[in-house]
Amino acid sequence: MTRKVADCRKYPSEMNCSLTITGEEDEVVRAASEHAASVHGHEDGPELREQVRGMLEDERVSV
Ligand SMILES: [Zn+2]
Repeated sequence: MTRKVADCRKYPSEMNCSLTITGEEDEVVRAASEHAASVHGHEDGPELREQVRGMLEDERVSV
């Protein structure tokens, strides 16, 4: 199965955040939302989680 990646470097931020979160979609959405709330000051909730879900990419597996 394909894991999902949320790469914080791809999102505009005043911090130089290099965090990358990889895992199953639900795990990544939860972890990235909590990260966005605690580190970037976003308000956690259904809207943030939808936004996070929309920015996930498939993990590129290097062979
Ligand atoms: Zn971040």
